[in-house]
Amino acid sequence: MPKIMIDNRDVEVEPGATVLDAAQKLGIAIPTMCFLRGHEATTSCMVCVVKLTGANGLVPACGTVVQDGMRVENDSEEVHEARKAALELLLSDHVGDCAGPCQMGCPAHMNIPQMIRQIAAGDLSAAIATVKRDIALPAVLGRICPAPCEKACRRKQHDEAVSICLLKRYVADADLQTPSPYLPTCAAKQNKRVAIIGAGPAGLAAAYYLQQDGFACTLFDDHEEPGGMLRYGVPESNLPRDVLAAEIVQIQKLGVAFRLGTRVGATISMQEIRAQFDTVFLGCGALKAEDAASFGVEASPEGIKIDNQSSATSVPGVFAGGDAVRKRRLTVRAVADGKEAAESIRQYLMGVGWASAHADNSPRAFRSRMGKLQEGEMDAFLQSASRKSRHGPSGTNSGFTEEEARAEALRCLRCDCRKADACLLRQQAQTYDARQARYKADRRRFLQQTQHPDVIYEPGKCIGCGICIQIASRAGEKLGLTFVGRGFDVRVAVPFDESLAEGLKAAAAQCVQACPTGALAFKDGHAGR
Ligand code: SF4
Ligand code: SF4
Ligand code: SF4
Repeated sequence: MPKIMIDNRDVEVEPGATVLDAAQKLGIAIPTMCFLRGHEATTSCMVCVVKLTGANGLVPACGTVVQDGMRVENDSEEVHEARKAALELLLSDHVGDCAGPCQMGCPAHMNIPQMIRQIAAGDLSAAIATVKRDIALPAVLGRICPAPCEKACRRKQHDEAVSICLLKRYVADADLQTPSPYLPTCAAKQNKRVAIIGAGPAGLAAAYYLQQDGFACTLFDDHEEPGGMLRYGVPESNLPRDVLAAEIVQIQKLGVAFRLGTRVGATISMQEIRAQFDTVFLGCGALKAEDAASFGVEASPEGIKIDNQSSATSVPGVFAGGDAVRKRRLTVRAVADGKEAAESIRQYLMGVGWASAHADNSPRAFRSRMGKLQEGEMDAFLQSASRKSRHGPSGTNSGFTEEEARAEALRCLRCDCRKADACLLRQQAQTYDARQARYKADRRRFLQQTQHPDVIYEPGKCIGCGICIQIASRAGEKLGLTFVGRGFDVRVAVPFDESLAEGLKAAAAQCVQACPTGALAFKDGHAGR
């Protein structure tokens, strides 16, 4: 049996095995995009390349049969660079948005398209969970946010933006009116204490997320009531205080403690706080440089100086965010700062290094972007959206009724990708830090084939791996799928220009599951989703 070495580890495999098989036997993960076990290797994506010592160039691990004595490099800079370049080539003419433009425009990166779909489906308990995953005070922001998400909304290119902010307010208000408004599940207690200075939007948001992570949070504020500038700066006509109070109660219910009327530096010193707590978050609102210095941290012309990635100040264990670090910003930015700092604090308290690969909705996650639509592309988006114009709420200063909210939700163009959480291309692009714009190529046209009852096909996301063609053929599809076009433009289509419904009668679900990108995806509401 042939023996080879991968990254200096010996392995013996059956004759005829590939380098990919050998790596798997060693537990070494080699990324693949176009390979599906049990199917013929097409070696079209070149993401699985490895280097054979002594040989010139790189070879695809999935299609290279081992020869006795081979020495394989899988974990070198050269191999990483080659994989990254292969991914960047695949991305260069890719057309799709992993996240909707609205989500990219929201400083808190809330998953707006998902919330809108949940509203349209009448599933408000799912919608509030979506909202509160990223926004701790949605009923508040639903009233005072200038809605940068709506400025980014694609629907504006057709008529007017979807009324996102009022939809969020509708979800949050409906939740607060239920007998037991939404409370997230908290992790087991961690035996770590966090002091949060300032019970304004940034501090409240930080407490909301850290308490969920199992840390005991105490909010300090020199005012008698929590809320910071929301209570003491925003006119009551814009933000009724009962709404603010109701959302703060939800934070309190998680177990967050409040020490109000307590001025740090007067009632209690920063040294005492440092001694009593494991970490500190400074969310104390706009500050002068000398005030920043009184917390013992370095100041910048704007306030407290922080590392933009981690929200860490110059003092280990002390973090800051909101108006304390940058003046006159949107409240939603302060709420987002609180959430981002909470993540850094969690990592600090758990003793893990700063993680660059975050959850899908993190600002740092990889996202393909298609940018401005080309002529005629809006028609594809409008296929499944309501053509009605933007709805306003019927009463002055009131929110949407259920009927109005649903009608407005149906205007959404569903710009985000249906495979955003499962796309291999996206996952590998994140792992290899690939940049979509590295190789300049004209992007393909955005097209959508929607005739199939369960499946949507977006050819601009197809990487030409051929997996679906093999699956359809093995499943005995009469028409099945085939490659059309040549070279860089090769794509999958149904022969004789027939529709996908004709090409995939039995194997559609299997093709969707195996497709490594969002090119083949289930329609919304399909049981496979
Ligand atoms: S196919 Fe993948 S990379 Fe492309 S938009 Fe969808 S999730 Fe993003
Ligand atoms: S149409 Fe919908 S998904 Fe697209 S940007 Fe607007 S709200 Fe977001
Ligand atoms: S549509 Fe078919 S060929 Fe294109 S990426 Fe998906 S599985 Fe591969």
